[in-house]
Amino acid sequence: MSVRGPLEKKIRQGYENELLEDAAILHGHYCPGLALGVKTSVTAMARLDMEHEGMEDIIVIVETNNCFSDGVQYVTGCTFGNNSLVFRDLGKTAATFVKRGEKGLRFVTRIDAREKWVERFPEYAELFTKVVRERSGTEEDRRRMMEMAEDISKFVVGLEPEKLFEMETVDVKLPEYAPIHDSHICEGCGESVMSTRTVEIDGKLLCLLCGGIEYFELDGHGMHLRGGNK
Ligand SMILES: [Zn+2]
Ligand SMILES: [Zn+2]
Repeated sequence: MSVRGPLEKKIRQGYENELLEDAAILHGHYCPGLALGVKTSVTAMARLDMEHEGMEDIIVIVETNNCFSDGVQYVTGCTFGNNSLVFRDLGKTAATFVKRGEKGLRFVTRIDAREKWVERFPEYAELFTKVVRERSGTEEDRRRMMEMAEDISKFVVGLEPEKLFEMETVDVKLPEYAPIHDSHICEGCGESVMSTRTVEIDGKLLCLLCGGIEYFELDGHGMHLRGGNK
């Protein structure tokens, strides 16, 4: 049995609430986005009959770097660290699940998905605006919002996937298995650096920082270039 055995069992048995609770430990809080990420992953893995061993045989392409992606990473085990997560900086609450050599299944959150929990928990939007957007809520508002977010998350994972997502089969061109690169020692800072992230300047092998070369950074604003001498 793979190390993910207990988790795969929960996926197969549809223990969505337990998976959500576990994912919330990774994510730090409950929220509808996290719940959507859990729900889409459980549904996809069951429908595509996927089991994941973290060896790039299963790939997920996520189109956003928000809460949703943590639910996806936790449940599928396709993560930033094991190279089975592909990030497309498109700002859509959507993910495509692919088994190597097969067609993919893309889930995009329906534009009316939000209405499902807004109808049921009308107070949430107001609390969210106060506490998160305006950063003006009281401690009590914050506590109520967090509690309500847990209820909403549990409500969301219990809904029929068709109520939350549009799904379609898609052809996906996957990247090859991630290459293993040698490391070099940067002649500027003396730190070890992957060979593909080095530059030769005046006969010296340097890391991108020492070489003053731009590099990609992913933060809360998305993917962008930083550094460089320009
Ligand atoms: Zn969240
Ligand atoms: Zn360096």
